Amino acid sequence: MSRYDVIVVGAGVAGSLVAHRLGRRGRRVLVLEAGVDAADPGRGEPDPFTAYLTAPVKGPDAPYRPHPAASWPAMTDLTGTAGPPGFRMTGHLLQNGPLPYGSGYLRVNGGTGNVWTGLAPRMLPEDFDTEPFGYGRRWPIGYDDLEPHYRAAEAELGVAADADEQREHAGLPLPGGYVFPMRPIPASHLDRLFAARLDGRLVTDPVAGDEVALRVVGTPHARNGVPDPRYDGGRGYVPRGRGGRPDPDSRCLGSASCIPHCPTHAKYTPLRTQGRWSPSVTLRDRCVVSRVLVDGTGRATGVEYRAYDGSATVVHADAVVLAAHAVENARLLLLSRLADRSGQVGRNLMDHPVVLTWGLLPEATGAYRGPGSTSGFEGFRTGPARGRRAPFRIEIGNWGWAWARGPAGTDVAEMLGRGLLGDELRRAVTDRVRRQFALQFEIEQSADPANRVTLHPRERDPLGLPRPLVTYDLDTHVRDGIAAAKAVSDQIFALLGAEDRTAYTPDAAWPGRFEHRGRRYGYRGAGHAAGTHIMGDSPATSVVDSWQRCWDHPGLYAVGCGSMPSVATANPTLTMAALALRSADRVEADLADRDRPAALTPDTPGAPA
Ligand SMILES: Cc1cc2nc3c(=O)[nH]c(=O)nc-3n(C[C@H](O)[C@H](O)[C@H](O)COP(=O)(O)OP(=O)(O)OC[C@H]3O[C@@H](n4cnc5c(N)ncnc54)[C@H](O)[C@@H]3O)c2cc1C
Ligand code: SF4
Repeated sequence: MSRYDVIVVGAGVAGSLVAHRLGRRGRRVLVLEAGVDAADPGRGEPDPFTAYLTAPVKGPDAPYRPHPAASWPAMTDLTGTAGPPGFRMTGHLLQNGPLPYGSGYLRVNGGTGNVWTGLAPRMLPEDFDTEPFGYGRRWPIGYDDLEPHYRAAEAELGVAADADEQREHAGLPLPGGYVFPMRPIPASHLDRLFAARLDGRLVTDPVAGDEVALRVVGTPHARNGVPDPRYDGGRGYVPRGRGGRPDPDSRCLGSASCIPHCPTHAKYTPLRTQGRWSPSVTLRDRCVVSRVLVDGTGRATGVEYRAYDGSATVVHADAVVLAAHAVENARLLLLSRLADRSGQVGRNLMDHPVVLTWGLLPEATGAYRGPGSTSGFEGFRTGPARGRRAPFRIEIGNWGWAWARGPAGTDVAEMLGRGLLGDELRRAVTDRVRRQFALQFEIEQSADPANRVTLHPRERDPLGLPRPLVTYDLDTHVRDGIAAAKAVSDQIFALLGAEDRTAYTPDAAWPGRFEHRGRRYGYRGAGHAAGTHIMGDSPATSVVDSWQRCWDHPGLYAVGCGSMPSVATANPTLTMAALALRSADRVEADLADRDRPAALTPDTPGAPA
């Protein structure tokens, strides 16, 4: 039987970073990964790029084949229905409404971080405490506590952004003289077009009653740009490419397939961090952790995992770090019946419900080039208005109507259905696709204990483990945020002279839809699952402390967006990475404390007098 210093459960962004940090300190780390290691074609796994190219549907999980023993919620599992409850969910993640939770995740080596878009903004200082605005839960730490870890995460993920722009137009108090590792990703043609038409124009938020000045602001990206020679006190930064190898020439080429796969490896994935693991870190894939083990005092001692044939193995360690994604971390704690003194395990599930609006500009938009979004509007994230409606970031969508209606093939199919053929078809498709654009409004959803992950009472996966069951709804604050977002969109479309094609129909395509104050809205999930093992300053009301340590079990940590008390107004992964790095330092300090020999006192036999 082997014993490790640390077992990390899950090799996604969070788990890979924690293992990296601890490995560098010489710790023996075992990473148990439920999914297959797709970088291992010797074991029959197709190369993700080939799998993506040959996949009939280019959805977020197209490069990977789920194994039934470690399945995940696929995009096609959730469909809309005409009658109540309005949606049907099949597959790994089951749901009982009242509204659908619209996000998926992946269980392969590297996790969801293989297929993410790579947008990496920081949270705003005010995001850490929204209680003064009358909603949400306060974080037990503030922006300043996380700031050095943000910088460390930006180095690990390789972030490209303009510090001055983030300071002046996104409201971030970046330390004086700070520069990001890489210069910003260039603005898209659409960004520049929007900036020329919209910068400085006022729109009214009818819910909050405010006027907000529009301004196109570049988004920080975890994808390679041009290194900034001023970085790290003038030492500069060397971008990393495939497998985390230094690659000074690696940069985003704009090939527009970041979801699900970057062919040039310019986008950060956890495989890059794994490529830099020290030899003291061992990855074992196809190992589905089914239970965390504790001793009689409640201290974590190890885990039990299942191979795909169902056989069980037990491994022991001084510390166990759960990094299996917000939904699966909660499922594991529930399966283990641990850490639930507060009754909050699985509760407070959050996402960014995304309102999509789409249309046609009179001229070419440059659609389907570059990352999914390169810039956005940040002015609706802040201020007293967030007390009256949920705040939101607006992303300018570079990929035409792909997220809202499907890729350009959908347009071709529709036109064929109308009988267009030959030159007429070619002209119609060209005219439509070249003028497409979309806006993506990511609405903050605050923690609500009623939104939760539980274990399904009957449905089991092939290993005999209860499947996760989600209960989910959007409260009035979020719905008012969605209404404000749509009203802002209407004004932006009018200022642009755009033809608005937004329509949340048919029902089958919009499982997430509802009526609010007499208007119909549709939403999608952002993939930003958060809150299921929420962080706080009391074991009575939270699952983990500010270091992501489970209150009830020394040696047990739960890292990832599941710890976040709010999903805030930024895409969450950079914050999650900063938290994970901070927690890795804590794990190391806790292990060092345990290892320290007892102090010799004069009473100790053999101690010098
Ligand atoms: C399409 C899409 C686009 C996104 N774009 C962005 C973006 O632009 N910006 C942003 O900030 N966020 C984005 N996100 C969110 C981002 O991907 C997640 O926040 C992040 O990947 C979560 O990392 P994680 O390590 O917690 O979980 P994951 O990446 O999901 O990793 C968890 C790992 O644990 C493994 N695992 C699960 N169960 C077990 C078990 N029982 N035993 C062992 N291993 C297990 C899984 O196989 C997986 O490898 C996006 C998400 C999606 C779906
Ligand atoms: S736009 Fe292309 S090159 Fe750039 S990160 Fe996305 S997939 Fe990679």
